[in-house]
Amino acid sequence: MELIFATHNNNKLKEIQAMMPDSIKLLSLEDVKMHDEIPETADTIKENAILKTDYVRDLFDLPVFADDTGLIVPALNGEPGVKSARYAGLNCDSDDNMNLLMERLSDEKDRSAYFLTVISLYLNGEQHTFEGRCDGEILRERSGAKGFGYDPIFQPAGFEQSFAQMELGEKASISHRGKAFKKMIAFLSATNFSK
Ligand code: IMP
Repeated sequence: MELIFATHNNNKLKEIQAMMPDSIKLLSLEDVKMHDEIPETADTIKENAILKTDYVRDLFDLPVFADDTGLIVPALNGEPGVKSARYAGLNCDSDDNMNLLMERLSDEKDRSAYFLTVISLYLNGEQHTFEGRCDGEILRERSGAKGFGYDPIFQPAGFEQSFAQMELGEKASISHRGKAFKKMIAFLSATNFSK
């Protein structure tokens, strides 16, 4: 089976590719020659995930999935949440986002946080969603150079390393995206997706 992953993010692609069963061939947006930046303008993580599959689904005669993720910090009323990619502003990068988050948390005792991923899958004319959550805390300093986004300052619960210190496979086995992805794979395995 061929399945389009509607993302331009190579880090995400690598994470998901590492978990993909041999029976499913993953195609990136580059593989299908779609170079548009898909707008992420919805108010919730779930709506953004659906918006991404809606954008792509009618262009190709193949099933397509997309993910959207937010980092939720309860002490900051759920920030950065749906704005995780552009927390420090539209033209800012991950460093700016991490700096702002650490600054806003500097006086907070509660540094707990969680990543939430929603995967939207469009298959055989139907929309499905799968969620994954990973709890942890925001570190006071960056640690590690792997991964992307907020990985250097996020330490998952029960671990002594940040996501950015973990190998790809280790992160994927416990991460928000990995958990949502496993649910999608279980669903696909139980479905006759070639019909
Ligand atoms: P997206 O909309 O799913 O691309 O995610 C929004 C933002 O959340 C990204 O730009 C990253 O800053 C952050 N993010 C998403 N997934 C991860 C992750 O696995 N680790 C660290 N940051 C992430």
